[in-house]
Amino acid sequence: DPAVDGILVQLPLPGQIDAQAVIQAIDPDKDVDGFHPVNAGRLATGSEGFVPCTPLGCLMLLKSIHPSLSGMDAVVVGRSNIVGKPMAQLLLGESCTVTVAHSRTRNLAEVVGRADIVVAAVGVPGLVKGEWIKPGASVIDVGINRTETGLVGDVEYDAAAERAGAITPVPGGVGPMTIAVLLRNTLVSAGRREGVAIDQTAL
Ligand code: NDP
Repeated sequence: DPAVDGILVQLPLPGQIDAQAVIQAIDPDKDVDGFHPVNAGRLATGSEGFVPCTPLGCLMLLKSIHPSLSGMDAVVVGRSNIVGKPMAQLLLGESCTVTVAHSRTRNLAEVVGRADIVVAAVGVPGLVKGEWIKPGASVIDVGINRTETGLVGDVEYDAAAERAGAITPVPGGVGPMTIAVLLRNTLVSAGRREGVAIDQTAL
């Protein structure tokens, strides 16, 4: 349908539906969530495509603090296709030295403690302890966990905030950026399809 510029699949899908089959049915050039394997490949090879909204929003937040990330040590905790892996690709593209940690990582405290940039995308409340954070580090908390006391992130916010140079809250940090980037990607899609140049550096 030429009237449609962007399509996203609201995940997770019910268990009887194969999410990959549904995602792969989307035209990669309308895949504003950036989950189609073609767009994952474009990101990995540095080609123009759609980048998943949450990691791109995290990168925008980081670049608002550090215009150049070149040479910084970045640790991404979590290796999912929708957050951890594309986040690592983006940081590599910015010339960070990137470590991807996951459930089998040994001595997570030490790994996180080396990082100038910490991105936590795990789904375990308060997994990343405040005392692990290198003083002055930038901390992006992607986690959204529903607890009896309300929504909390993957980072022990109060303790981490005492050491971090910058830190995102939960809620009100990464979540709104994800939504903003979805609209950005849709605008970029419309521009490409209509042949209208859009200055993406201004978005
Ligand atoms: P997944 O469950 O797909 O991935 C979680 C990752 O965390 C896995 O790679 C897993 O490792 C790793 N992990 C689990 N336990 C540990 C541990 N104890 N130590 C180290 N690593 C661990 O989650 P998503 O990536 O989809 O989401 C992560 C969080 O981000 C969730 O809270 C989700 O709600 C939130 N989210 C927020 C968004 C936003 O807009 N703010 C958007 C998307 C997600 P392994 O691979 O070894 O199993």
